[in-house]
Amino acid sequence: MSTDVIAKLKEMAVDPGRVWIAGGLTYAGLLAETGRLANALVSLGLKKGDRLLLQVEKCEAVLSLYLACLRTGVVFLPVNPGYTVAETAHFLTDAEPALAVTDPERVAGLTALGARVMALPELLALAEGQGAGFAESSHGPDDLAAILYTSGTTGRSKGVMLSRENLASNAEALVGLWRFSETDVLLHALPVFHTHGLFVATNCVLYSGASMIFHRAFQPAAVLAALPGATVMMGVPTFYTRLLADPGLTRELCGHVRLFISGSAPLSPATHAEWRERTGHAILERYGMTETNMITSNPYQGERRAGTVGMPLPGVEVRVAGAEGVLPQGEAGAIEVRGPNVFQGYWRLPEKTAEEYRQGWFVTGDMGAFDAEGYLSILGRAKDLVITGGLNVYPAEVEAALDDLPGVAGSAVIGVPHPDFGEAVVACLVAAKGAGLEEVAVRDALRERLAAFKIPKRVLVLEDLPRNAMGKVQKAELRRVHAGLFTEG
Ligand code: AMP
Repeated sequence: MSTDVIAKLKEMAVDPGRVWIAGGLTYAGLLAETGRLANALVSLGLKKGDRLLLQVEKCEAVLSLYLACLRTGVVFLPVNPGYTVAETAHFLTDAEPALAVTDPERVAGLTALGARVMALPELLALAEGQGAGFAESSHGPDDLAAILYTSGTTGRSKGVMLSRENLASNAEALVGLWRFSETDVLLHALPVFHTHGLFVATNCVLYSGASMIFHRAFQPAAVLAALPGATVMMGVPTFYTRLLADPGLTRELCGHVRLFISGSAPLSPATHAEWRERTGHAILERYGMTETNMITSNPYQGERRAGTVGMPLPGVEVRVAGAEGVLPQGEAGAIEVRGPNVFQGYWRLPEKTAEEYRQGWFVTGDMGAFDAEGYLSILGRAKDLVITGGLNVYPAEVEAALDDLPGVAGSAVIGVPHPDFGEAVVACLVAAKGAGLEEVAVRDALRERLAAFKIPKRVLVLEDLPRNAMGKVQKAELRRVHAGLFTEG
């Protein structure tokens, strides 16, 4: 069994000088703040198992509130502040939080939906008047720690139930693997409503007694200015491409950094190579999802293989399976996961939960293959697989070929209904600054690399690819917009 997050916090808070957030709180200060917040939550009548919905712009208090919930046993339910009131309504009716905490300007909107709402500044003021001491009741490893809603690009968003052990076991695995220590300073510029910034980043810091530089938003110039003081940065791929676009990114600036980590969306081998050339660092790519926490990682020592997500984390089992069962190495199939990292099910959806398991393994919905050295490659979401004329095309393979072409800054390959082929492969491209992309030339260039059935039937050059807050391309949106490409006029 792993050490619980709160036990870890208390252990780290013994050293009065240990810094949690640079220029902000110490761990001792954090422990006191979480105690006051925990007392405030109890004074509001919240108890173990109740849900607390938090929808605020990124700020340091989110992390304190997450930990305060763990101290009280209240289930932490963070929501993307980018969601409209109408979108948030689903979380209120589905999760029935005992309290919703939000920015002052959202209070009226959420109150109108019938929720019990409090503005964050009001809660912080209430906490200020409370004592810092808080006696935890006992918590078990299987108790719920948090519910994170899936981004719900297809169908309704589902509440992912994560236990204390899910979080703790993953934090311990990552700290060991990525060699986190108390001398580390993590540059934190990720959102804190998502597993990446909330659990991966925050818990790695907490479990090693490290500190963080906390940015309330990702701004390339501010990140570049802060890099010399950091030893680790975690980012989504768009962080890296945007930093590369800034001439201010130099090898000297990264001299103090020991590790750059990327995840949440595929990092293109081109970006990996360009980053290495500019900074001397091989970005370490890892793979995970809300339901499973982190699953695989490239090695700290040893080759960080671009275009792969590395090997299973210690304690985590990964298999690639087809309809008949586990597939031989090298073959592409469904990625399935088992281990203490895997969630407790979807909130109030036991049947949906059961559907996502096969022989006790959680079916991630991602397709992938292991290479001879045990590195896993992600070939895309199963639902993004394109079946054209009866043949399977993995978008990731075509995207990798496209990304290698000169003048291509980004690509997304989708399947679009086609009268002859069922589905046709379509490439959506974004041109690099100043580059022109010609449909015919792109298709010709691909012919040297890909079998004919994988060559896109159409190449569309777009201004931009639609992405969510984590930098993931919204393929469902592209499919919707281009659905009529072959069937209309
Ligand atoms: P989320 O639950 O929002 O974190 O999304 C999880 C999904 O993001 C996974 O199922 C993958 O499809 C994708 N993902 C996460 N990390 C990577 C990665 N390193 N490469 C490719 N896809 C990734």
